[in-house]
Amino acid sequence: MSGLYERHLAVSPEWLALYYRHPIELTHGEGRYVWDADGNRYLDFFGGILTTMTAHALPEVTKAVSEQAGRIIHSSTLYLNRPMVELAERIATLSGIPDARVFFTTSGTEANDTALLLATAYRRSNQILAMRNSYHGRSFSAVSITGNHAWSPTTLSPLQTLYVHGGVRTRGPYAELSDDRFIRACVADLEDLLGHTREAAALIAEPIQGVGGFTSPPDGLFAAFRQVLDRHGILWISDEVQTGWGRTGEHFWGWQAHAEHGPPDILTFAKGIGNGMSIGGVVARAEVMNCLDANSISTFGGSPVTMAAGLANLSYHLEHDLQGNARRVGGLLIERLRGIAAGSAAVREVRGRGLMIGIELVKPGTDEAHPEAAAAVLEAARAGGLLIGKGGGHNTSVLRIAPPLTLTVAEAEEGASVLADALHAAD
Ligand code: PMP
Repeated sequence: MSGLYERHLAVSPEWLALYYRHPIELTHGEGRYVWDADGNRYLDFFGGILTTMTAHALPEVTKAVSEQAGRIIHSSTLYLNRPMVELAERIATLSGIPDARVFFTTSGTEANDTALLLATAYRRSNQILAMRNSYHGRSFSAVSITGNHAWSPTTLSPLQTLYVHGGVRTRGPYAELSDDRFIRACVADLEDLLGHTREAAALIAEPIQGVGGFTSPPDGLFAAFRQVLDRHGILWISDEVQTGWGRTGEHFWGWQAHAEHGPPDILTFAKGIGNGMSIGGVVARAEVMNCLDANSISTFGGSPVTMAAGLANLSYHLEHDLQGNARRVGGLLIERLRGIAAGSAAVREVRGRGLMIGIELVKPGTDEAHPEAAAAVLEAARAGGLLIGKGGGHNTSVLRIAPPLTLTVAEAEEGASVLADALHAAD
């Protein structure tokens, strides 16, 4: 492997953990496949969430990026920038938020930081409600609202955060309840919490927890929360960094499964929209977005090259109905994986929506998390030419599947066959 890993260890922080015993050096990609420095080809079942929403080396995006790079690469803060305005217009319309304003950042973390800045300024409170087991990024304030404490490198916090039940449906004290009773129990928990607090600024939540293991609450939970929040004037921030852009198949945004009482006040997005270029952003209604007293600048947020990538990517996505593809191919893949899992004592559950699929592993015959099995399956899948992810609470026992949204039925079948073999590593 050309000694690159050893060089990486010598210069990088120890906590910068990479996947696999011998990490992969990716050299190039095409469609749903990537290649490593040793010439091995892998079907990419995880790049979709990490970065590549649509396809590796999508010609439309490559062309837009190189043409824009050949014209001008600049910041977006002091001068007008056509791709940025055009992408903002499209996202404002798609967001479902009335009178929407869009602010671009370079990552999901910064997007959530900006959302916190807005909510705390708007409400003049630094108290935030977040979900247990949540993940919102790596900055000081983002780790302060991350309920998945495996991802909290510090116990210090600039915010006062209160954690709410509801993000994880399948485990925890309310796991045995019906959907309706689950929602009622979570709402009662939220109301109880609000009885003991100062005025909270916002509730931030992922509609489906990503890093937390692709766990989703019953549809309507956040609509029920919203009614309570509205009574207190508390804002709802929907972190769509993983659930946005039609990945769940059913909806363009995750919040739409909870739409009964309207859209969130603030929506954050990132990852896939740039198809690998670093774009993040915040959408909020004008009254909230404009509550800051001073300019909030991100030098490279909205830079012309990333915006050109986002525009080309979004156009391709909409023209090719990739949300519909996520629904169709994801639906088939989930069924196929459930069939495979039926023969494995180590699989507790196959869950998911569209092309956001989790396989939770346990020690056979128990309900205990099995991180060693997840690591072993990841290695076995790699040996079979398939890249997948993992996540889920303190013990990362959930295999995560989030391919580019252009995944074909044949590729889904290919990946499922590799997984069928790889899952033996968990037995
Ligand atoms: N929110 C969610 C739901 C995420 O999954 C992530 C990244 N895993 C982030 C925020 C942070 O995004 P970024 O890594 O681009 O800062």
